[in-house]
Amino acid sequence: MDLSINATKKLSNGVEIPYLGFGVFLVNDPTECEQSVLAAIKNGYRSIDTATRYENEEFVGNAIKAAGVPREELFITTKVWVTDFGYEETKKAFHESLKKLQLDYLDLYLIHWAAPGFEETWRALEDLYEEGLVRAIGVCNFQIHHFEKLAETAKITPMLNQVETHPLFQQVELRNYLAQHDIAHEAWAPLGQGKNGLFDSPALAEIAKKHNKTVAQVILRWHLDRDTIIIPKSVHEHRIIENADLFDFALDTDDIKTITSLDTNQRSFGNPDDIERFKAMQEAAKSNS
Ligand code: NAD
Repeated sequence: MDLSINATKKLSNGVEIPYLGFGVFLVNDPTECEQSVLAAIKNGYRSIDTATRYENEEFVGNAIKAAGVPREELFITTKVWVTDFGYEETKKAFHESLKKLQLDYLDLYLIHWAAPGFEETWRALEDLYEEGLVRAIGVCNFQIHHFEKLAETAKITPMLNQVETHPLFQQVELRNYLAQHDIAHEAWAPLGQGKNGLFDSPALAEIAKKHNKTVAQVILRWHLDRDTIIIPKSVHEHRIIENADLFDFALDTDDIKTITSLDTNQRSFGNPDDIERFKAMQEAAKSNS
């Protein structure tokens, strides 16, 4: 695949999203967040992925402002959290996010998890999209059955699904479904959060050595070669640079075969079907309001 740091993927509505973005999950110290987003933008990233749940939209907004890059060159994503589900609640949450990010439109707004009430929440996303307040809308952590349920009421098919994906959990079945429905695949935890021994894999180390790259770069390049959008996170500038330096090498068929063989088909993080967890959060939020 012929790619550069500025390469974009066309979503089903024609909007172009950068293949490489920067994630800010768990980066909620104001200075650390602002400095890492600034470092990312300085080093060529143009897409930033945040969420109301990360409680750092304001710091991301400050960094965007300080970076001085024209707004239209950036691609900003945030997500509606499960305790804001519902038509009016979602619209309110969207406007609060815009305010914190200090923006007047978003590039991508996502439902964070398929918790109860996602259909009404999606209706709000459709209306925000039709009002021109967001350029593309999508979901996170949707399984095939969630898409099928949503299709019963939705006017617009989600343009993107952001899901846990890394060499240990390659999402083969879901990927086929997404491709058939023209829904872009975006990987969260593209590096598997550096857990479960992924960076210690001898097979990945060998591929990295062969190409004079790091294991992280091999993993990220593998995602790009399978047409997946990536949003790796780091708060260290040298790693922010490393994670964007993916465009001067190519994996060969043997490398791909080896990485494919690492799939355990087991997720490492949250299960999208753990509905009880979301219900409890929604109920607790209701009783506190
Ligand atoms: P990731 O796979 O990007 O891993 C990040 C971690 O990997 C870092 O904290 C660091 O420990 C390590 N790392 C990063 N670069 C490295 C390098 N070059 N060398 C060695 N170690 C390195 O995990 P993530 O942050 O969970 O996922 C990326 C983004 O996806 C998040 O920041 C967030 O924006 C998004 N996300 C979304 C959801 C969702 O439910 N929608 C869930 C989790 C994450």
